[in-house]
Amino acid sequence: MREGSLDAPTRHPLDWNNPDFYDLEKLDAEMRRVLDICHGCRRCFNLCDSFPRLFDLVDASPTGELDEVDSKDFKPIVDACTLCDLCYMTKCPYVPPHEFNLDFPHLMLRYRAAERHHGHKDAIGDQLSQTDRNGKLAGLVAPIANWASERGNALTRPVMEAVMDVHRDAELPKFNSKTLVARAKSEPSAVNRAAPAFGKRKAAIYATCFGNYNNPDIGIAAQKILAHNGVELRVEYPGCCGMPRLEQGDIADVAKKARVVAEAFSPLIDQGYDIVALVPSCALMLKFEWPLILPNDPLVKKLAQATFDISEYIVDIAKKDGLAPGLKPLEGGVTLHLACHARAQNMGAKATEMMKLIPDMKQGESLAVIERCAGHGGSWGVRKEFFEVGMKVGKPVMRAAVKENKAHIASECPLAGLHIRQGMEREGKDKDGFVLPPKAEHPVELFAKAYGLL
Ligand code: SF4
Ligand code: SF4
Repeated sequence: MREGSLDAPTRHPLDWNNPDFYDLEKLDAEMRRVLDICHGCRRCFNLCDSFPRLFDLVDASPTGELDEVDSKDFKPIVDACTLCDLCYMTKCPYVPPHEFNLDFPHLMLRYRAAERHHGHKDAIGDQLSQTDRNGKLAGLVAPIANWASERGNALTRPVMEAVMDVHRDAELPKFNSKTLVARAKSEPSAVNRAAPAFGKRKAAIYATCFGNYNNPDIGIAAQKILAHNGVELRVEYPGCCGMPRLEQGDIADVAKKARVVAEAFSPLIDQGYDIVALVPSCALMLKFEWPLILPNDPLVKKLAQATFDISEYIVDIAKKDGLAPGLKPLEGGVTLHLACHARAQNMGAKATEMMKLIPDMKQGESLAVIERCAGHGGSWGVRKEFFEVGMKVGKPVMRAAVKENKAHIASECPLAGLHIRQGMEREGKDKDGFVLPPKAEHPVELFAKAYGLL
């Protein structure tokens, strides 16, 4: 829910094919217009590091106004934005249809796209954001890649920091030698099977790059829950949604990926399949960002309308069809972090609703819910320059999770989960009685556990 306005926020298509989008004078004029409104408003002071950077800059200028700030100093503000969308979705009263027509995250995106257009590319960011290529290569040598990327590896991590700009202390996701799609083919008991007689739904699980290459267990948990509930299943991975490329300002590449994935899913949607994304950032791309990048593409529109976030889909089954029996209480309680990109889907707190379907799971008792940005921001949060910034932004989340001291820590965003658990390790190390959960989990993994399916 957004503060201060009764109108539902809307968003204009990204005008990325218009040369004005990349015109540096026009961009600067728009930056000054928007940053001045933000300086007068300041509601977003504690959401991330972008706004404090802006406000400090203005406060340090001779007049205390934006007109004394040099435009070259805007770049650190843009660099600190993770495109989490929270300012747009939860705070800003000036988003369309308001006449100020303010869309801070998309302005940050435009700035990065313009930098790119004028030849200022982030070469390392470009490499880190090639998730399909990196996932395939690392999967071929998964044990070695996982050994090399292990936090605390004194041999490899300083080299990775020097060569790849990946902070030596950042927790990195693991790679798997067997992708989710490969597991789905070799373990057909859980997928690609005909629905039981009571089943009415058909779903294609969109594996997502993280679910396919890094943590197939999330997809396996989702499959088992949906199969148990009589959903006819497929697991598909036509390619990455392009969120990491969006962070790099490469809108043309995102558009290319959108066309490929939308074309691949189109025949399945025609056959009645719902498309279910395992990671909120990817669901957000399919539902909202792609239609703003390709507003006239009918297949992108069709895919947006057929897409569900995994928690949203399970709650939808519970509400409309009723859940299959078998859920049992989970021991030890759960601290649940709601991902920014789940909140940005404007669908309500579906992960909270899903967890509350588990017997004895009561918010404020066995279930602690944290609705605040964890500060990770994809590949941004592992970079040398930004890792500690991300830790600072996420500190209130990590402190709250340590205070809750539950047996499970879960986030809908798997990268945020790793980041939060690492912060809990730091924050909780001297706290008596605090026990660090052995791993960060996706809420569907906990739901599958409550069903006794894992
Ligand atoms: S999108 Fe997120 S990170 Fe970017 S400015 Fe808004 S709140 Fe900050
Ligand atoms: S994004 Fe909107 S709510 Fe946030 S500081 Fe700027 S004007 Fe205020």
